[in-house]
Amino acid sequence: MTWSIWRVSPFISGVFFILGVFTLYQVMYDGLKTVLRAKKIKVDEDKINSYFGVIYMGIFIISMQATIVGTPVSWQFMNFQLIALVFCAYFLNIHVPYYIFFPIMVAYMFFNGSLGYWESWCHGVTLVAYYSSLNIIRRRQHSDYPFVAYILSGVFFGSLLWFFMLIKFDLAWSTLFEELSYFIIFQVLLYSYVTMILRDSKLKLHLLEFANHDALTKTENYAAYVTEIRSLFDLSTKNNLHLSMMMFDIDHFKHVNDTYGHLAGDKVLRHVAEIVQTVIDENDPTVKLFRTGGEEFNVIFPGYDLPSTEPIVRQIFMAVNHSDVEVNGKTISLTISVGVSTISQADLEPNDFYARVDGNLYHSKKNGRTQITAN
Ligand code: GH3
Ligand code: MG
Ligand code: MG
Repeated sequence: MTWSIWRVSPFISGVFFILGVFTLYQVMYDGLKTVLRAKKIKVDEDKINSYFGVIYMGIFIISMQATIVGTPVSWQFMNFQLIALVFCAYFLNIHVPYYIFFPIMVAYMFFNGSLGYWESWCHGVTLVAYYSSLNIIRRRQHSDYPFVAYILSGVFFGSLLWFFMLIKFDLAWSTLFEELSYFIIFQVLLYSYVTMILRDSKLKLHLLEFANHDALTKTENYAAYVTEIRSLFDLSTKNNLHLSMMMFDIDHFKHVNDTYGHLAGDKVLRHVAEIVQTVIDENDPTVKLFRTGGEEFNVIFPGYDLPSTEPIVRQIFMAVNHSDVEVNGKTISLTISVGVSTISQADLEPNDFYARVDGNLYHSKKNGRTQITAN
């Protein structure tokens, strides 16, 4: 094999071409997602995936077809076009009414110079029907045999579609069978490849979730806190914005563990996180809760000066102090001690700020617990 003579069968090139098209799509889509996330642009990723996928496949189909339009072999890219359609219909989450496809179909037939052929009209309508059936199969993916339904619809519609091409282009039956079997093989390949990629990206998402969240309370963890405070501290000092923080620690928590057991202690921690999150959600979702230690939590208030944190801090304090947790028929009552502070000109790094909040919490503890120290 040399640079100019590439002794690979067209089928093998076809397989790698299709895999390459989908890999390039995945890489470009991941890149787009990363850019949007870095710029903190909140978008519906599912929608981006759909729009981007359709535009990407559309460009491929049109530019490939443009090279053979009007020639007697203008059917030659049909398997690729079918695979692109399968990808859009089955693997992208597109919510478009079906009648939209008719003007697209007519425009494509015009581009392809096939408006005057009845076979092409039958072909177009069959394509729309195939699209709809794949959509329905996808939505019923929880049925027992989604793969079988996916393949059977491919065999059925693929045969019909190739039959219309056989009539229009006067193809041999052997060509039809050959192309149809290639299509089924490509369809299986696409299914395995995309399923594998989706599993991989789900796993990545799961790992990311796991790395930033505390498994017990499901709140964000210390690692997430460090990243967030660093970025908010830089942003706030640079742009002269307010930034405040509350830190609280459950009083005599060791006593809860010693008296009722660690499982009860765990339940108390989950309960506290839930109460605090509820108070935050009712007030301002930009305020963020983190579990930074065993029974220590930090709440970051972006854009808040000290007085404006007061109502929320007080609500959290009252909500936890007035809540009881039921464990094995026994009622455990809880209290917390709190420290609050805001950034000052003298703070050179996040830890200078943190140390003041921590000092205030320590003051609350030393002073008899169950109180708030803020300055
Ligand atoms: P103080 O009022 O001074 O804060 O007293 P305390 O007993 O709350 O503080 P101390 O630091 O002595 O004890 C904290 C306890 O929290 C010790 C540790 O066993 C417990 N703890 C830390 N993480 C967990 C956890 O995930 N689950 C449970 N059940 N207990 C935990
Ligand atoms: Mg404690
Ligand atoms: Mg503690």
